[in-house]
Amino acid sequence: LTILGLESSCDDTAAAVVRQRAGARPEILSSVVEGQTALHAAFGGVVPEIAARAHAEKLDLCVEQAMAEAAIGFDDLDAIAVTAGPGLIGGVLAGVMCAKGLAAATGLPLVGVNHLAGHALTPRLTDDLAFPYLMLLVSGGHAQFLLVRGADDFRRLGGTIDDAPGEAFDKTAKLLGLPQPGGPAVETEAAKGCATRFAFPRPLLDRPGCDMSFSGLKTALLRARDALVAEKGGLTRADRADLCAGFQAAVRDVLAEKSRRALAAYSETDPAQPAFAVAGGVAANAALRAALKDVAAEAAAQFVAPPLALCTDNAAMIAWAGLEMVRAGHRDDLTLTARPRWPLDRTSPALIGAGK
Ligand code: ATP
Ligand code: FE
Repeated sequence: LTILGLESSCDDTAAAVVRQRAGARPEILSSVVEGQTALHAAFGGVVPEIAARAHAEKLDLCVEQAMAEAAIGFDDLDAIAVTAGPGLIGGVLAGVMCAKGLAAATGLPLVGVNHLAGHALTPRLTDDLAFPYLMLLVSGGHAQFLLVRGADDFRRLGGTIDDAPGEAFDKTAKLLGLPQPGGPAVETEAAKGCATRFAFPRPLLDRPGCDMSFSGLKTALLRARDALVAEKGGLTRADRADLCAGFQAAVRDVLAEKSRRALAAYSETDPAQPAFAVAGGVAANAALRAALKDVAAEAAAQFVAPPLALCTDNAAMIAWAGLEMVRAGHRDDLTLTARPRWPLDRTSPALIGAGK
C-alpha cells in the first residue's frame, strides 16, 4: 500500500508518502514539513487565523514536493490520508478540503485520521512493535497514557488534569524570554544549568494512578523568576539555565514515575511481552527519553521512541496511520468533516487537558 498523508492541524503544513509492501518494513518515501514559526514569532504563540491562511497557501506546494521527492504519480497511490482533527479548526479544514479536492480529482479513497492516532501509531512506523502496547503521548496539547490495541482501538488509562507538558515548556520559554516553540529552547538552556538549585514540585506523585498535573509547575517557575527579579533586578544566564534545568527535571520525574506505575499496571494485565512507546513533540526531549528508557528497562519491557523529526508534527505519521486504517478496512468519503475536538478513546466522554 502507498499512501499520501496531509497534516495541517497546528503550525506545521506537511505532506508525506509512506509505502509498505507485503511482508516488508514500511518506508517513508518523502516527508515535507513547512513550519510557520517565523509567521507567529511576533505574537508569542500560534495565531489560528494566520495559521489557517498559511496552510491553505502551502498545502498544494507541500503535496507537489512530497510526490516529486517520492518520485511517484497519483496512479501509484492507494489512498489519501488527512488529519481531520483534533486541532485548530481553520487549519484542519484547509487540510480536509485539500484532501477532498485531490480525492475527487483522482478517484482515490479518502481516510480521515485523528492527529493523536498519528502520533500514537508512529512507533510502529519506525520499529517492529506489535499491538498491544502502552503509549505515553506527550505533545503541545496533550498528555495521556493509552493502551493501544489496534489502529483504531485506544483505551485511555490516565492523563493530565490541566496543562499539557508541551504547553508548560512553551510557557516556561515565554516567561524566561526564550524563543518559541519552547521545548527545544528550554532543553538547550537546561543542559547548561543545575537542576537542583530550585526545588520545583512534582505534582500528583503522592496520588495513586497515572493522572498528572503540570499547571502548578508553571506557577512555581513564575514565582522563582519573580523572586530573582525582585532580588537583583533581572535574570542572569545562569539563573535562566538553572530555572530551565529545574523545570525540565520536574517534568521528567513526573512523567517517569507515572510511566513506571502505568507500566506496572499494564504488565499485570498483559504479562506476555510488555511494550512501552512514547510519542508526541515532548518525546523529542533527550532527558525525558533517557528516563523513560530506564523505566522500560526496569520493567523488562520493549521500549520505542521514534526519531525526533517523527515525534513533532509531520505528515509521515498521518500517512502511516492512514495506511494502518486502510489495511483495517476503513475509509471515508467526501462527507468527511473537520473536528476541532476528537478524543482518541471512544469510551472517554471528553479528553481532559485537550488544550486545543
Ligand atoms: P497536539 O499533538 O497535542 O495536537 P501539537 O501538534 O502542537 O499538539 P506537537 O507538534 O506534537 O504538538 O509537539 C509540539 C510541542 O512539543 C511543543 O509544545 C514543543 O515545545 C514541544 N517540544 C518540541 N521539542 C521538544 C523538546 N526537545 N523538549 C520538550 N518539548 C519539546
Ligand atoms: Fe501534534
